[in-house]
Amino acid sequence: MRGAADSRGSTLVYALAAIVAFAGPLALAAQNPDSMARAAECRRCAEFNAPHAPGKIYGNTYWVGTAAVGSILITWDRGHILIDGGVPESAPRILANIRALGFRPEDVKLILNSHTHYDHAGGIEPLRRATGAEVAASDAAARDDDAFLFTQPTRYPTVVSDFEHGFSVLESIPCDILITPHPAASEMWERIARRDAGDAAALVNRDACKQVAANGRRDLNARLARERSGSGKGQSGLPDGRRGTSN
Ligand SMILES: [Zn+2]
Repeated sequence: MRGAADSRGSTLVYALAAIVAFAGPLALAAQNPDSMARAAECRRCAEFNAPHAPGKIYGNTYWVGTAAVGSILITWDRGHILIDGGVPESAPRILANIRALGFRPEDVKLILNSHTHYDHAGGIEPLRRATGAEVAASDAAARDDDAFLFTQPTRYPTVVSDFEHGFSVLESIPCDILITPHPAASEMWERIARRDAGDAAALVNRDACKQVAANGRRDLNARLARERSGSGKGQSGLPDGRRGTSN
């Protein structure tokens, strides 16, 4: 994603385990019926929609999401990229944040979805309508549902090897600043506060992606072990690595 690299070659990671782990066909997240079905379960939407001022994270990458759910704008002279749309109620906030930064929603040409959970994909359809952008998401075959077993992945036979591929990519790519779909998962607001107080390097952690990969691999292995022992998926759902991918 060339738009994510600034002129000094730094690469921003937005929960890349979710993005790079899956090599499946593109799917329109906004049409995902399971994702939409989660609307009825959105007991935390008010929390997810709590406003937050937009701001620059680094280079051409901006936070335009809410206080609890990420929406990332990557600006480019050939059209902007928006990653994730929050819950549906957040779409007007995201559009207002884009405008407040001086950019035009109509210049967003591509909307990406990190993963198809309602709190990250629910706002994409209204954002697509408002911007006219294309929407792309990775195949959601392994999303966190009650029936999915990583040890019997009939709907997604390559899920474990795809995760491993994602971990390998995370370990090898240049990675300076970690941004997670839920900012709390990577203490982003605390890091930004330190940066804004004068610690210019507060956002930078060159080991962050390696740590995400290690956490994800650990959680995946634990999940596989639980399934093999008959205790099922346990409480953690997908191997989210918490401080790496998201939920
Ligand atoms: Zn989430």
